[in-house]
Amino acid sequence: MLLQPPPSETREFQAVLPEWNPDVDDVLVCHQIREETHDVKTFIFSERYHCQFRFQSGQFLTLDLPVDGWKIQRCYTISASAARPFRATITVKRVPGGICSNWPHDNLKPGDEIRAVGPMGDFVPDLDTERKWLLLSAGSGITPLMSMARTSADLGDDRDMIFVHAVRSPRDIIFRQELDMMARQQEGMRLALICKNLSQEKSWLGLTGRLSSVMLQLIAPDLDEREIYC
Ligand SMILES: Cc1cc2nc3c(=O)[nH]c(=O)nc-3n(C[C@H](O)[C@H](O)[C@H](O)COP(=O)(O)OP(=O)(O)OC[C@H]3O[C@@H](n4cnc5c(N)ncnc54)[C@H](O)[C@@H]3O)c2cc1C
Repeated sequence: MLLQPPPSETREFQAVLPEWNPDVDDVLVCHQIREETHDVKTFIFSERYHCQFRFQSGQFLTLDLPVDGWKIQRCYTISASAARPFRATITVKRVPGGICSNWPHDNLKPGDEIRAVGPMGDFVPDLDTERKWLLLSAGSGITPLMSMARTSADLGDDRDMIFVHAVRSPRDIIFRQELDMMARQQEGMRLALICKNLSQEKSWLGLTGRLSSVMLQLIAPDLDEREIYC
C-alpha cells in the first residue's frame, strides 16, 4: 500500500501562490506593527497579491519612504525567518534627528502600502554546512543575525550557535524574550547579552561593560573554530 504524504499547509500554499518577482513586484502592505523596545518597532508586511516572499536570511530591502513630499530610500534588513515566506518584516530603530527611521514609527499603519526593492545582499550564511556559528551584533545590527537564528531554529538544524548581542542598557535589548526562549529551547544555542550600563535595571546579572577580546574569549573559547557573522 502506498503511504500518503502528510498534508502540508506549506506545500498547498506553494502550489497556489506565485513567488515575489523582484523584477516586477515592488509593493508591500503593512499588516501589523510590534513595539520591540522604547525606540524600536517591527513592521510586518505581506506582498499586495499575497505571493510568497523568497529571501535568504541576512538580506535586506530598500524602501522608498515618503518623507515630507520626497521619496527617500533607506535599506532595512529582513528580520524574519527565511523559512516563513508569507511575511516580510523589518525592525527599525529610531535615529535621533534621522530623516527616515522616524517616519515609519510615526506614520506607518496597518493597511498602508510601501514600495520596496529587493531582497538583496550577500551577507547570507551557508545553511548547508554544519559549522558552528558565532553571531556577533550590537544595537539594531541584530536584525540580519536574528533572521539567521530564526531560520536555523525553523529548519530545526539545532546548530551549535553562540549569539552575542551588545547594547547600551537592558531596555535596549531587541527581541529579548524571544532570544531567551530560543536559547532555552535549542540545545545548541547559547546567548550572551552584554550591557554597557544598567540604567533602571539594577537586577541585571548578565555581562556588563563593553565587548572586548577578553570577554569574547570567555564567551567563545573555541572562537577559531566558528564561522563568525558580524
Ligand atoms: C544594508 C543595510 C541594512 C540596514 N538594516 C537596518 C535595520 O534592520 N534596522 C535599522 O534600524 N537600520 C538599518 N539600517 C540603517 C538604515 O538604513 C538607516 O541608515 C537608519 O535607519 C538611519 O536613517 P535615517 O534616515 O533616520 O538617518 P539619516 O537622516 O540618514 O541620519 C543618520 C545620522 O546622521 C546624522 N546626519 C545626517 N546628516 C548629517 C549631516 N549633514 N551632518 C552631520 N550629521 C548628519 C543624523 O543626525 C543621524 O544621526 C541598515 C542599513 C543598511 C545599509
